[in-house]
Amino acid sequence: MTAPIVRFAPSPTGRIHIGNARTALLNYLYAAVQHGRFVLRFDDTDVVRSSEEFVRAIEIDLAWLGVKPDLTVRQSQRTALYEAAAAKLRQMDRLYPCYETPEELEKRRKLQQARGLPPVYDRAALKLSEAARAQLEAEGRKPHWRFKLEAGTATWRDLVRGACGVDCASLSDPVLVREDGSFLYTLPSVVDDIDLGVTHIIRGEDHVTNTAVQLQLFKALAPSGQAPTFAHHNLLVGGGGEALSKRAGSLSIASLREEGYEALAVAALAVLTGSSDSVRAVNSLDELARDFELGHVSRNPARFDPADLATLTHRTLALFDYQTVRERLETYDIVGFKAEPLWLAVRGNLRTFDDVLVWRRVVEGEIEPVREDGDFLREALALLPPEPWDETTWGAWTARTNAETGRQGRTLFHPLRLALTGVERGPELSLLLPLIGRAKAAARLAG
Ligand code: GLU
Repeated sequence: MTAPIVRFAPSPTGRIHIGNARTALLNYLYAAVQHGRFVLRFDDTDVVRSSEEFVRAIEIDLAWLGVKPDLTVRQSQRTALYEAAAAKLRQMDRLYPCYETPEELEKRRKLQQARGLPPVYDRAALKLSEAARAQLEAEGRKPHWRFKLEAGTATWRDLVRGACGVDCASLSDPVLVREDGSFLYTLPSVVDDIDLGVTHIIRGEDHVTNTAVQLQLFKALAPSGQAPTFAHHNLLVGGGGEALSKRAGSLSIASLREEGYEALAVAALAVLTGSSDSVRAVNSLDELARDFELGHVSRNPARFDPADLATLTHRTLALFDYQTVRERLETYDIVGFKAEPLWLAVRGNLRTFDDVLVWRRVVEGEIEPVREDGDFLREALALLPPEPWDETTWGAWTARTNAETGRQGRTLFHPLRLALTGVERGPELSLLLPLIGRAKAAARLAG
């Protein structure tokens, strides 16, 4: 089997959200497991709504998620290919000019509905005589161009949904070219998929109807007449079943990043929600790729809960070894021989990565010790062993303190933790204590 070529094709008309990340990652992982190629295609034929700023932002968001394109293309730079395809379709009598205004079409739709007919374009333009067309053009009307669909049911084997079929009689001939000569999404997408040798189209199930149309375009335009393999994944919906687009702002990849969620937590949630694999924290995208199969994607809506991002971020951080975060720690100036033991001590206690700064302060900086029961703390201080300290120091010290004072359990440990760290809960003190060091520990116990 040849290695797959997939593509993720956002329109740069906004920032991408976690639902788009799902599509991008499903493509990326599919290619990764089979050593295929991933193409990032910007669908920027809508020049008014597309912007450079969003192109850049999408690239940044994908890079943050760990999605590295093998190739990036922009539809705005490929117009000649679309012109050639449109010319070919005209030659085949599959692309015909239409002159109706949106108002006229709307009126016709209402009439059809009133008569109980499906609101499908009636192909009136196909019946226009040469003279009638010339007359309309003389009035200053410019044509838009529709693709003439063949009758019949479009069928395909979908890698997520199994056997699929759409009756093309229920569809209007789609407009491929606007009055101003610009292209709508449908044709350029197929032309690019052919030109770039895309083997698998993995996209949301909101595109199922497009697929029926595009299958006919592939048949007309691909040298082999063959279409790629399709996979339509379920869409992420909020807890109430609402479409994600409603909340795109708060769930944009950029805002999730700013909230401090881990990229791998976002990726794991985006991929594993609505699949037969349970949502879990992972160490790398490779780990996510390892048991990835499109067949695991469910056909039901993927209900997802943003609250899971907090839990997953916490769990993801706990999995990271020092090498994974070394560079990130360096940007906070956490370097040197204490950096690794600090990370290993605190990684299980982080809500977000930035919490590492809180623990760095506990270890190296000044804190406000909370001193409950000064007499006991002074007794414990007197028993504090000399340095060098290691991970056994805490155990040895508290065992002695227990023997001397008779305190045990919470009454022994709680006041010591409060005095040494200033907070109720945190990392294992056996790991923190040697990092705090004797001088600071003694000062905090003494008050
Ligand atoms: N630009 C289209 C979209 O964002 C691409 C759809 C496709 O993958 O073909 O919906």
